[in-house]
Amino acid sequence: QKLVFSGVQPTGNLHLGNYLGAIRKFVALQDGNDCIYCVVDLHSITAQLVHEDLPGQIRSIAAAFIASGIDPVKHIVFNQSAVPQHAELAWIFNCVARIGWMNRMTQFKDKAGKDRENASLGLLAYPSLMAADILVYRGTHVPVGDDQKQHLELARDIAMKFNLDYQAHIRKAGYGTDISVGDEPVHAYFPMVEPLIDGPAPRVMSLRDGTKKMSKSDPSDLSRINLMDDEDAISKKIRKAKTDPDGLPSEAEGLKGRPEADNLVGIYAALADKSKADVLAEFGGQQFSVFKPALIDLAVNVLSPITGEMRRLMDDTSHIDAILRDGGERARARAEKTMKEVRDIIGFLQ
Ligand code: ATP
Ligand code: MG
Repeated sequence: QKLVFSGVQPTGNLHLGNYLGAIRKFVALQDGNDCIYCVVDLHSITAQLVHEDLPGQIRSIAAAFIASGIDPVKHIVFNQSAVPQHAELAWIFNCVARIGWMNRMTQFKDKAGKDRENASLGLLAYPSLMAADILVYRGTHVPVGDDQKQHLELARDIAMKFNLDYQAHIRKAGYGTDISVGDEPVHAYFPMVEPLIDGPAPRVMSLRDGTKKMSKSDPSDLSRINLMDDEDAISKKIRKAKTDPDGLPSEAEGLKGRPEADNLVGIYAALADKSKADVLAEFGGQQFSVFKPALIDLAVNVLSPITGEMRRLMDDTSHIDAILRDGGERARARAEKTMKEVRDIIGFLQ
C-alpha cells in the first residue's frame, strides 16, 4: 500500500496552482491509499519570520483541504508544529545532508534573492525538514507541483545516505527491508519516495508573467487566482491576464514559445479534466476574447463550491481546530514509532 504524504505552507492566499498542482491530487489519491496531509507551519517561518495571522492562515489551509473533499477521519489532516518529531528528524537529516546539496536548490536561490548571506539558515535547510516531513511516516508517494521536484530528489538522496551510512546499525537493530536502487541491493530503513507530478497543470504560471510560477508570496494579487476569490475577482483577473495578440492554435505544438497562451490552455484543461489537445480541438482558431469568457465560467464553476465551503468552515473555527487536534494526535503516534527506531539505529539512549 502507498503511504501518501504532502504539505502546504500557511503563507498567504491559496491559489489555483496549489489547487491544481497539489490539493486536487490529494483528493484523488484518497481512494485505496493511506494519506497524511499537513499544513506545514514550520516551513512558513523560513522565508518570513513574523506573520500577522498565522493561526488564521493555518486554519484556512486546513479548511481548503476539507472543502476540496479530503476526509480527515479516514486520513490525517494536521499542522506540522503539533508533531515535534518532524523537527527532530530534520535535525538528524541536517547532519546527513551536505551543505553543497542545499546550495544547489533553485527554490533557495529564488527565495533568498541577491542577499544570500542574509537568508535564514532555516530557508537553506528547508529541504531537509521537507524530507523529514515525509520520511517520519516512511511516506512513499508525494503529490506536488513541478516546483518541488528538486526537493524530492534531495529527499531521496538523504534517505539513501542515511540507509547506507547506517546500514550495519539498521541490520543489527532488526529494522528495514532489502530494496534495490538501480542494480544496488540496499538494506533500507527509509523508502525511496516517488514524486507524483503528472497532469495538465503541474506548474501553473503567473497570470502577469508566463515565465514565473503562480505563488502565494507573489506581491501582485493579479498574478494569481485565489481560492477565496469571488466571481468578480476571477473574472477581472482572467480578463486582465497577459496574452499575446494571436488566436489559439489548433494543436498543442502551436503553444511552444507562447508561455501565457500555454498557461491558460493548461489551466482550462486541468479544470475541465481534459488534455490540452482536447481544449485546442474545441478552441483552436478562436481569439482570447472568446476563450477567456469560457475559462472564467469554468473556473467559477469549479472553484465557487470550494470557496463557499471554505467560508462556511472558517466562520466557526472550532470544527477545524478539532480536526487538527485529532489529526495531530494520530500523526504524533505514528511519527514517534519511527523516531524510536531512528534513535535506536543511531545509538541515542532512550
Ligand atoms: P510560497 O510562494 O509561499 O512558496 P506556494 O504557492 O509555492 O507558496 P507552497 O505551500 O510552497 O505554495 O506549495 C504547496 C503545494 O502547491 C506544493 O505541492 C507545490 O508544488 C504546489 N504549487 C505551488 N505553486 C504551484 C504552481 N504554480 N503550480 C502547480 N503547483 C504549485
Ligand atoms: Mg512554494
